[in-house]
Amino acid sequence: MSLNSARTLNFKVSLFFIVVSIVLIVVLTAITLFAFRQFSINTATEHLRTAAEIVRVHLTESMITGTIDKRQTFLLRLAEVQNLKTARVVRSPVVDMQFGENRKGEYLPDEIEKKVLKTGKSLFKTIENNGEIIFRGTIPYIANLEGSPNCLQCHTAKSGDVLGAITMSMSITSLRHNGVVTVSGISGVVIVAVIVLFILLSYLFKPISNTASDIERAVQDAINGNFRNEIKKQTNDEIGMIACDMNRLLKFLNDGLEKINSYISQLVDRKQSTHENQLLATIDMVKNMTQVSQYKNAIEEDDTKLDVYFRLIRTLNTKFFQGQGEFSIFEVSTDGDELHPVSYSENMEASCRWCRQKILTYPKSCRVFHTAHMINGLIQPDICYSFRQNDDVIDLQVDGEMVSAEMNDGGKREEMQRRYPLCFPFLKSGVVGSIVQMVVKESDRDRILSALPYIKVYMADTAPVLEVRRLMETLRESSLRDSMTGLNNRRFLEEYADTLIASARRKQTHIAILMLDLDHFKMINDTHGHDAGDAVLKALANVIKATVRSSDIVVRYGGEEFMVVLQDTSSAYALSVAEKIRSMVESMKISYGGATLQRTISIGIADFPGDSKTFWQAVKFADVALYNAKATGRNRVVHFTRDMWRDSQQY
Ligand code: GH3
Ligand code: MG
Ligand code: MG
Repeated sequence: MSLNSARTLNFKVSLFFIVVSIVLIVVLTAITLFAFRQFSINTATEHLRTAAEIVRVHLTESMITGTIDKRQTFLLRLAEVQNLKTARVVRSPVVDMQFGENRKGEYLPDEIEKKVLKTGKSLFKTIENNGEIIFRGTIPYIANLEGSPNCLQCHTAKSGDVLGAITMSMSITSLRHNGVVTVSGISGVVIVAVIVLFILLSYLFKPISNTASDIERAVQDAINGNFRNEIKKQTNDEIGMIACDMNRLLKFLNDGLEKINSYISQLVDRKQSTHENQLLATIDMVKNMTQVSQYKNAIEEDDTKLDVYFRLIRTLNTKFFQGQGEFSIFEVSTDGDELHPVSYSENMEASCRWCRQKILTYPKSCRVFHTAHMINGLIQPDICYSFRQNDDVIDLQVDGEMVSAEMNDGGKREEMQRRYPLCFPFLKSGVVGSIVQMVVKESDRDRILSALPYIKVYMADTAPVLEVRRLMETLRESSLRDSMTGLNNRRFLEEYADTLIASARRKQTHIAILMLDLDHFKMINDTHGHDAGDAVLKALANVIKATVRSSDIVVRYGGEEFMVVLQDTSSAYALSVAEKIRSMVESMKISYGGATLQRTISIGIADFPGDSKTFWQAVKFADVALYNAKATGRNRVVHFTRDMWRDSQQY
């Protein structure tokens, strides 16, 4: 394109000069030829007039000296003058009348001469004869009184009468030849001048067209993202200035882009390839970093760890996986002994989809847990032994490559694609706290590989936010949990009560509240020490936990007082659970410091809304029932009755 434009410019300049040259030569030739023709005719006319005058003088002289009979010899001699072809004289009727028609040796006038004799006006004519150009002129002799001798001394005529005419013809071939030579000479000079001018102007135009094509190329390269071109300064004039300014502009843009790139590369580990459009790559990087920044703002305002996880997955899925990504999240248990699948592509019920189940109970078999480094299966497909294409996936040989396909899939190519693991650890106090796994399909591999620097930035930006959320959740959890037994505390109950009540009301179910208190517990402390008491409390907590359903809530309500909240239950079931706990505690033997500790427990039960209008009133009634159990002999289960409340009010 650049060369084309330069060619166009050169072509235009050349065309302009060729046209101007041709017009100039044609005009000059025409003018010269015309001028030369006029000049030739004028010159010949003057010559003929001069010769005619000489002849007239001679004839007059001959008349006077009486040698007029010799005039023919004179005229013949005259015709021998160079270029003069013929010379003859004819008489007019006036002379015939005076001297009679003496025709011996005289010519009769032809048509032209007759006309001249009649009109007294000269006639000139150019005749072409066998390649020779003849100029013929007939000039009248008119009687006048001027000079001595004059015509009227011999002729009886009045002044102004036409006495005769002389006709002479002369060759002007040589004149025309000279004219052609002159015109050719002039044209030659003009052509040479035009060529010289053309060369000079080409020399002047060369820097312009070179600079133009350089600029054109630089602009084209700039559009393709290359700003490293330099335009050669060819002259010191305005064209040279344009080249310098253009170089400054290119350098400014190039430096600017390089700076932006270096700033961004501090944020994202993305190397620009030399073939890449520098500008488009920079725009892409800026766009991605802006989106990362928006994402970070969003997760910072997300409430829970799960919200952060899901936003991360959703963002990556939309941005890099065209909504078709497969993501798994695993949380590492507090003791680090287990991995808990949190979700598979936002499905909370999901289990381990793409890894061997073993990683759940033996986390060290998960490579990312073990190394605490990102696992990049895109580059090393077989890096992790635990990654597999699941139990319901069989290995198939497709296109000579081992791939996997889901059973009963009907051979869908989509599912037959090979998959690669991309697993990222999120650290928690220096050890792996959770893992995000992306499973990349063969068809997405290249795209995800090139997006990997950005995915890493998303991960890096998520990590601190996740750590803070995790910390907050831990803090919150610990504030709601009793550290010694691991049970929920009274604060938890206070916070959770509203949810419990709302759920019971909505489902129109009953909540049973069991209030438990060890019998004569103080004796353990007093006899075996406080630590022995603690051991009993821990053992009791485990017994209670083992007896109730996972949906039931066990609370350490006070020192050695416990509460069990049974949801969606009947009084009979509550009673059976309480009785089970009671009997389990009764038979519970705790070895401590060589001694065997054994206690019984008293349990009071109340039902909401069966026994009370409010939940907290039911709690109170359960306590009343417990008091009743203590009062009536301990090691028993007592269900609240109205009379117990009346009795308790009397004290
Ligand atoms: P009863 O309930 O049968 O009337 O007799 P009790 O001996 O159990 O009496 P009470 O319930 O009043 O005793 C509570 C005792 O529990 C007092 C306190 O020392 C003890 N205690 C409370 N919290 C803890 C604890 O965390 N660890 C230990 N070791 N003892 C505790
Ligand atoms: Mg007590
Ligand atoms: Mg007690």
